[in-house]
Amino acid sequence: MSEQSVTADVVVIGGGAVGLSIAWRAAQRGVGVLVLDRGPVGQGTSHYAAGMLAPVAEVTPGEEPLLELGLRSARLYPRFVAELVEASGVDSVGHTTAGTLLVARDADEAEALERELALRQRLGLPVERLRASEARRREPSLAPALRLALDVPGDHAVDPRMMLPALAAAVTRAGGEVREHTPVAGVALTGGRVQGVVLEDGSTLRAGQVVVAAGVWSPQLSGLPEADRVPVRPVKGQIMRLHDPAGPGLLQRVIRMGPTYITPRGDGRYVLGATSEERGFDTTVTAGAGFELLRDASELVPGISELVIDEFAAGLRPGTPDNLPALGPGSVQGLYWATGHRRGGILLTPVTAELVAGALAGEPLPEYAAAFAPGRFAAMTVESGRE
Ligand SMILES: Cc1cc2nc3c(=O)[nH]c(=O)nc-3n(C[C@H](O)[C@H](O)[C@H](O)COP(=O)(O)OP(=O)(O)OC[C@H]3O[C@@H](n4cnc5c(N)ncnc54)[C@H](O)[C@@H]3O)c2cc1C
Repeated sequence: MSEQSVTADVVVIGGGAVGLSIAWRAAQRGVGVLVLDRGPVGQGTSHYAAGMLAPVAEVTPGEEPLLELGLRSARLYPRFVAELVEASGVDSVGHTTAGTLLVARDADEAEALERELALRQRLGLPVERLRASEARRREPSLAPALRLALDVPGDHAVDPRMMLPALAAAVTRAGGEVREHTPVAGVALTGGRVQGVVLEDGSTLRAGQVVVAAGVWSPQLSGLPEADRVPVRPVKGQIMRLHDPAGPGLLQRVIRMGPTYITPRGDGRYVLGATSEERGFDTTVTAGAGFELLRDASELVPGISELVIDEFAAGLRPGTPDNLPALGPGSVQGLYWATGHRRGGILLTPVTAELVAGALAGEPLPEYAAAFAPGRFAAMTVESGRE
């Protein structure tokens, strides 16, 4: 194994939304930061995400810490986007703020939606109940057969395929380095502290701090201490991208019905998702999933049938047993975690970056971060969290 002199103050393993945003925030603080990705950056799970920023639409009983984290991140988003556009020099990251409609087509779905409304009202979240006619007035392309809708004005969206290159540019412009096609084999530890990372070519890059941000592939890194090994597993999502040859205007808001959603990009492109499957690292796409996505979406918005399919692909959400991410320092000095963001990694990008960059600088973690301690899995025996 060849040794190298100290390469960076901080090495971030993984150039997805999570790793790049942490690197950007750390570089802004004057830290020498190096992001390593085994491929081109931004081609992991972040490449497939719809980009919904939907803490309210996605609230799930029993996941209150995630709701709080998501709401914090959603509040940070407008400034994050403005700063990122400025820092990277891009024109836009596709931030759309028209809001989200949760819709029901029949009596059963309407009953379920009333329960969703009650949950959000109990939690004090901003949601408006709409009769079908009002929902169709706001989104005229919705099917006439609609029964009920909830308007969630604060749940927005970004385009991850615009945001990821912007993040990479922002890291570089802030003085950091992004090194692509550099697979990391594992973390180098000696005497209870991090020494750096070992690359797959056998060389070592020395750094005092290492951030594990390799998404669903994080557990494959060697050298991770058992005490805070985060059991991330892939949750497959099949997702379709389409565009309207007639241009924008079919929809303004994100439309959601159960697990199905249609996310308009605002420029005539639409993202239609998504399945949630426990199939390991399989990323094949199936006729059945494609059929169901298109059937549900075109029942909600009949005009979907006129769109052109650009891509049908599958991404792997990095899930953890309790469905919460692992954020902050691990059990070994110099090792930090930022992984396990499952279905919300794009939403959680600004808050993750702030939290982990702060921890790298030695700031105490805020109280709300306790639920996301990477070491919490050491004592866990049952691993069955499902989406
Ligand atoms: C279908 C689908 C829809 C989704 N929709 C949304 C949504 O609407 N809103 C939302 O908030 N979230 C959504 N998500 C979730 C979101 O995509 C993830 O939570 C987020 O992208 C995770 O980001 P990450 O940076 O942790 O991982 P990734 O983007 O996967 O980045 C990890 C990086 O690490 C690199 N890497 C891995 N191993 C190594 C190694 N050994 N050496 C070097 N580099 C390595 C990879 O190449 C990759 O670039 C969706 C996910 C899917 C699959």
